[in-house]
Amino acid sequence: MNIILFGSPGAGKGTQAKILSAKLTIPHISTGDILRQAVKDKTPLGIKAQGIMKKGELVSDQIMIDLIKETLQKKDCKNGFILDGFPRTLAQAKALDNLLIILHINTYHLVNITTNDDEIVKRLTNRRACKVCKTIFNYDEIKRKTKCPHCGAENSFFLRNDDTEEVIRHRLEIYHSTTLPILKYFGKKGKVLNVNGLASIKTVAENILATLKSN
Ligand code: AMP
Repeated sequence: MNIILFGSPGAGKGTQAKILSAKLTIPHISTGDILRQAVKDKTPLGIKAQGIMKKGELVSDQIMIDLIKETLQKKDCKNGFILDGFPRTLAQAKALDNLLIILHINTYHLVNITTNDDEIVKRLTNRRACKVCKTIFNYDEIKRKTKCPHCGAENSFFLRNDDTEEVIRHRLEIYHSTTLPILKYFGKKGKVLNVNGLASIKTVAENILATLKSN
């Protein structure tokens, strides 16, 4: 199964992608995670992306398109994939469309996780991640804990440097102006499935699986 998970920053794409990846045994490809790892490893890509990401802006289309081209041609994507965070611009959407044709992939769905901006700001300023296992928590879940409930790492919680309110508002503006037009593009192709992202994590996951099954 080939899935493009779509939604605003903080809509729950990463969380849902992890659940779907385990259930469907297909890889989760998060461009944000790939970039964050590159920043951590100080690779040429990471050095280029670091400042852009910190400001909540978008890394250049050409860099992202080349990255996805290379990733989707890897062996572990042969039985399907879940894209999380790509495409984010119309140019990326068109490049993905061409790439899928070249790779003879014609069955895919774009799952649009719907939310609203106020909920997103509340969620993201409350989001903490474990720097060891990358599991995402709500601040209230871990505020009295020193160990990660998932992997046991000590004092490993952190707030992403692009999860401050000012940067979140900027990321949302970019989402509305630059990313949202993608929905129309894939909508015209009949590829869009909408799922309410304001329900619980479990319900959203169940609804995504149900809508994928029936389409
Ligand atoms: P995410 O974890 O998906 O919210 O991505 C974090 C940051 O990585 C974004 O705010 C962008 O700066 C960058 N990024 C991730 N995916 C893309 C993409 N497809 N195009 C451009 N920039 C991206």
